[in-house]
Amino acid sequence: MTASAAPVLVIGAGVQGLTAGVVLAEAGQRVRIRTADRPQDTTSAVAGAMWGPAMLRPAERVLYWVTRSHAEFSALARDENSGVHLAAGRMAARFDLGDVVPPEAKLIPDLRPCTPEELPEGFVSGYYATVPLIDMPRYLDYLVARFQAAGGELQLSPVPSLADAVAESPTVVNCTGVGARELVGDPGVHPVRGQHVVVRNPGIDEYFVELSDSGEFAAYMPHGDRVVLGGVAVEHDWNMVPRREVSEGIRRRCAEVEPRLADAEVLADLVGLRPGREAVRVEVEEYEGGRIIHNYGHGGSGVALSWGCAFEAVDLVEGIA
Ligand SMILES: Cc1cc2nc3c(=O)[nH]c(=O)nc-3n(C[C@H](O)[C@H](O)[C@H](O)COP(=O)(O)OP(=O)(O)OC[C@H]3O[C@@H](n4cnc5c(N)ncnc54)[C@H](O)[C@@H]3O)c2cc1C
Repeated sequence: MTASAAPVLVIGAGVQGLTAGVVLAEAGQRVRIRTADRPQDTTSAVAGAMWGPAMLRPAERVLYWVTRSHAEFSALARDENSGVHLAAGRMAARFDLGDVVPPEAKLIPDLRPCTPEELPEGFVSGYYATVPLIDMPRYLDYLVARFQAAGGELQLSPVPSLADAVAESPTVVNCTGVGARELVGDPGVHPVRGQHVVVRNPGIDEYFVELSDSGEFAAYMPHGDRVVLGGVAVEHDWNMVPRREVSEGIRRRCAEVEPRLADAEVLADLVGLRPGREAVRVEVEEYEGGRIIHNYGHGGSGVALSWGCAFEAVDLVEGIA
């Protein structure tokens, strides 16, 4: 095989790698994804996950990425095989949120302030809004199937170095999440540890997310017969073992908002490492005769940004952007 005949190499099979793989393969490119972990063992599989405003940098790019992703997820919600559905719910805070909402909130057709009666005890302001919720285990399966149906090849094999990657293909899309710290040697990438408790759904169909700067908050997202409960965010913590006291705290905070969660049967305790970085990195690097399109560092919003980032990464592959 000559170098130019090599498929585009995507590294990573979390939501970023799979979405980029789908966009590339459906555009007619030959694509190989190499991943160190099965899609179901990635951070992406642990996410809640909700499309919502992303307070990340660079702000103007992030606005574009969430906007494009909102359109895609809204369309996917009409496909019952996708794992995406539109759900109403509340985003609320224990402090006054004021009247200024992030610009992407304008995409939410029914956004309105909560009435005082709609706020749980201890909360002083919030918004009621219908947004896409993404059942990540199902959604990742959907992306894999769509990628393979478009002719994409998925290999479970870690990429030892960027030099190996460009030796395999002159065009590489790097979607390695927190793994970019080692693969790229980017010290700005760090883990922001999250933990979830998954319970059997006691009949909840609305989500709740506490808006907070603290590393401990209340959040729950229903996906059919399961509800995913959060949340915690601990910077620079690599520990992948669920901590019992953390699960107990999550459960207690969620049950204070929704008492039906207090006794719901626990199905799993999960840990995921959000890929923290000062700014999301979507850009081209010329590297040892090849081109690497980096797409990593999406923090706690990698699902919400995924389609927009994938479209931009693919424009960079094709030399359009
Ligand atoms: C508890 C929790 C809740 C969250 N909730 C939300 C939410 O509601 N909404 C939202 O938008 N986001 C949410 N997130 C954030 C979101 O999960 C991440 O931003 C997103 O999953 C990052 O996706 P990724 O594809 O970049 O990385 P990952 O999912 O980590 O995938 C990285 C991939 O790269 C592979 N890889 C790494 N190094 C190598 C290598 N050397 N060779 C080959 N493969 C390699 C890995 O095996 C993996 O396949 C949440 C995260 C957590 C932990």
